[in-house]
Amino acid sequence: PLHQLNDPTLLKTAGYIDGAWVEGTDTFAVTDPATGLELAQVANLTAAHTQQAIDAAEAALPAWRGLTHKQRSHLLRKWFELILAHRDDLARLMTAEQGKPLAEATGEVVYGASFVEWYAEEAKRTYGETVPSFAPDRRAMVLRQPIGVCAAITPWNFPVAMITRKVAPAIAAGCTVVVKPAEFTPLCALALAELAHRAGIPQGVINVVPTEHAAAVGKVLCDSPVVRHLSFTGSTEVGRILMAQCAPTIKKLALELGGNAPFIVFDDADLDSAVEGAMTSKYRNAGQTCVCANRLYVQAGVYDAFVAKLAERVRGLKVGNGFEPGVTQGPLIEPAALDKVQEHIADAVAKGGHIVTGGKPLQGQFFEPTVIANATRDMRVAREETFGPLAPVFRFTTEQEAIDAANATEFGLASYFYSRDIGRIVRVSEALDYGMVGVNIGLLGSEQVPFGGVKQSGLGREGSHHGMDEYLEMKYVNLGDV
Ligand code: ADP
Repeated sequence: PLHQLNDPTLLKTAGYIDGAWVEGTDTFAVTDPATGLELAQVANLTAAHTQQAIDAAEAALPAWRGLTHKQRSHLLRKWFELILAHRDDLARLMTAEQGKPLAEATGEVVYGASFVEWYAEEAKRTYGETVPSFAPDRRAMVLRQPIGVCAAITPWNFPVAMITRKVAPAIAAGCTVVVKPAEFTPLCALALAELAHRAGIPQGVINVVPTEHAAAVGKVLCDSPVVRHLSFTGSTEVGRILMAQCAPTIKKLALELGGNAPFIVFDDADLDSAVEGAMTSKYRNAGQTCVCANRLYVQAGVYDAFVAKLAERVRGLKVGNGFEPGVTQGPLIEPAALDKVQEHIADAVAKGGHIVTGGKPLQGQFFEPTVIANATRDMRVAREETFGPLAPVFRFTTEQEAIDAANATEFGLASYFYSRDIGRIVRVSEALDYGMVGVNIGLLGSEQVPFGGVKQSGLGREGSHHGMDEYLEMKYVNLGDV
């Protein structure tokens, strides 16, 4: 699929350090999850390259943070425009290496670009404060300054947006960055670096280190006293490792980790709208997002009707290669992902779950979109994130029962519920122990709002004006002898 790029020079296979393309001595294969075919051999950079990238970011920092906010804003704006101008090629690279349907990939590119646009604008608004003074001859003010060199470790499920969401606010604030993209999806990351280069973002400001040595490269980023901030999106398990590794240097951390999103449908919901929301929330990206509905709780009065309508819609999904027109569900990222879905289904069936539709792997890395009814709390699907196209539907009776079940997890990222009762909407929104609540909607993301979780789903928020705070330190200046 990659020879169809409008601009073949966007296919980069070397790392990007200090404004130059670095080959390294070794490569790793990037494969198309839909076909299993190799797409490219990409530079497999090392711990030593990572140190070079940190050095480059450190060297670039004084000049970059010394620009005016408006100058940085203009460069971000240019990057944004280039990303949009090349949206079709970026989407092709994404469908090829990640598998999501082309229309969905295009949507992600636009979504990813929106963070660059937003932080081009926010760059100009990193206001400080003047504080009413506590003594007549003193003045107090608060400056907000870039934290310094930042690191970003990103996942494969959103190969563009997870990078722009971190890099755009960091560089807008005046920081410089080293990015380690996921090994499944380095091509989008490198194409973004190429576009940043074309936009005129100076050398060393953004560095991208593709590698299969995730742990070794991660260790260098965590251990470095020069790196002052680490932003990570990925599993809670790896998040814990990184947090521990960042303790010795007291690094500031932003963590977007696993979720286990509840999706609650009350008797008073608009059922068709709830089914629509469940489809988007559950089956988007083949269920491979940290905000995908993982557990569907449906009140007894509408349970059977909801399950029937959902299953009917799910039977209408078209599974296949994301480049084929009309395909709505692509492959899963790797064979292990299919194993996990299958294990969850087998466990659910053994404990009384009923497969309403789907349930089986297809050829290659494809899996039937699946609905399981009669889900119960002793099943693995009640506790673990499936990260695949499986919707277990639990039955509940009272509002409190639904809230308790929804909150019975160590995770707290996204949650959803459908109701038309205004009192209930307020009560349940307040009671859900989550960083994000979608009410009568199955899709929450936007560059304008703070995305993030509570409990073991992470630390910090990305997007919105709050997203900039991650990359700014406050400095209190007290002026005496006035
Ligand atoms: P996922 O389940 O989404 O693949 P991971 O947490 O395994 O989540 O991966 C997210 C990112 O973290 C990827 O870029 C991966 O290479 C990286 N990663 C995995 N293990 C480590 C590690 N020990 N140190 C640093 N980065 C890691």
